[in-house]
Amino acid sequence: MVTITTVETLQEAAANGGQGTAFLGGGTLLMRGVNYGDQDVSHIVRLRQPQCLAGVSLEGERVRLGACATMATILRSTDVAFLHAVARAVGGPAIRNMATVGGNVYAPHPYGDLAVALLALDAKLRMSDGSEMELERLLATRDTETRLIESVSAVRPSGDDFRFLKVTRVKPRGASVLSIAAWLPRRAGRISGARIAFGAMAPTPVRAPTVEAALEGASLDQNGIDRALQSVANDLNPPDDSLASGWYRMEVAPVHLKRLLLGQGTR
Ligand SMILES: Cc1cc2nc3c(=O)[nH]c(=O)nc-3n(C[C@H](O)[C@H](O)[C@H](O)COP(=O)(O)OP(=O)(O)OC[C@H]3O[C@@H](n4cnc5c(N)ncnc54)[C@H](O)[C@@H]3O)c2cc1C
Repeated sequence: MVTITTVETLQEAAANGGQGTAFLGGGTLLMRGVNYGDQDVSHIVRLRQPQCLAGVSLEGERVRLGACATMATILRSTDVAFLHAVARAVGGPAIRNMATVGGNVYAPHPYGDLAVALLALDAKLRMSDGSEMELERLLATRDTETRLIESVSAVRPSGDDFRFLKVTRVKPRGASVLSIAAWLPRRAGRISGARIAFGAMAPTPVRAPTVEAALEGASLDQNGIDRALQSVANDLNPPDDSLASGWYRMEVAPVHLKRLLLGQGTR
C-alpha cells in the first residue's frame, strides 16, 4: 500500500523522507512507476501548493527556476527563451504540462534532457536545507541524497553561446539516443571556458572535460574543433538500451557534436 503525506513546505517534505519515500514533482515518472506496481515506493510526500516553488526569476547574469516549475512554465517565460527548444524536446504536451525541473534532474537514463542543458549552463542548486550545491555534484551522488531541490540557478547565455541538440529515433520517437548541450562563451573570436554536457551517454547527464579542454582557445570552425571531436571517446561511457547500443551512441556522438558546434544541427 502507498500512503501519501501532504505538507506545506519543502523543509517538512524533506523531514518526512526515509526508506521507501519519494517526493512528488509532476509525477510523470513517479506515478507511472507506482501505477505499474513499483514496490520501492511505499510513501509519497507532496506539497499542498507546489506552485510556490514554480517561479522563474532573473538574478543578474543568471536565472533561477523553482524546482516545481514545469516544462510548460519554461515555455511560457520569455526570460528563459534560450531553454525553449530544450523544454519542447521533453515528451509531448501532456508530459510538458506536468514534468518539473526537479524531477528532470532525477530522471533516469535516457531521460534528463533539461538537466543536460542546465549542466552546460553551470547550474547550481539551492537545496531544502538552504545550502547550495553544484548540479554536477548532485548528479554524481543523487542516489544517496536526502535533501530535496528547492530551485536551480543557471547562466543566461548571450547570443548563440548556448546550443542544444537531441537525437531520437524515428520510431519510437521521444527519449534520447543522445543529447548534447554546449555553452560556448567567446573572447576575441576564441572559445573561453566552454561547458559541454551529454545526455544518455552515461548513467546520468555528464560533462565532457577532455572535449572542453580541447576547445579552450579554439575557433568555432572545422579546424578549431577537430581535436575536441577526437576527444569525445575519452569522456563518455554510454550504456546499451532498447533505443541504441553503447557502441552506436559512441560512433555518432562526434558527428552530432560537430553539427552542434558548427551550428548545423541546433534545435
Ligand atoms: C511518455 C513519457 C515521455 C517522456 N519524455 C521525456 C523526454 O523526452 N525527455 C526527458 O528528459 N524526460 C522525459 N520523460 C521523463 C519525465 O517526464 C521528465 O524527466 C520529467 O521532468 C520528470 O519530472 P516529474 O516532475 O514528472 O518527476 P516525478 O515523476 O514527480 O519525480 C521523479 C523523481 O524525481 C524526484 N523529485 C522530483 N522533484 C524533486 C525535487 N524537487 N527534489 C528532489 N527530488 C525530486 C522524485 O522524488 C522522483 O524520484 C518522459 C516521461 C514519460 C512518461
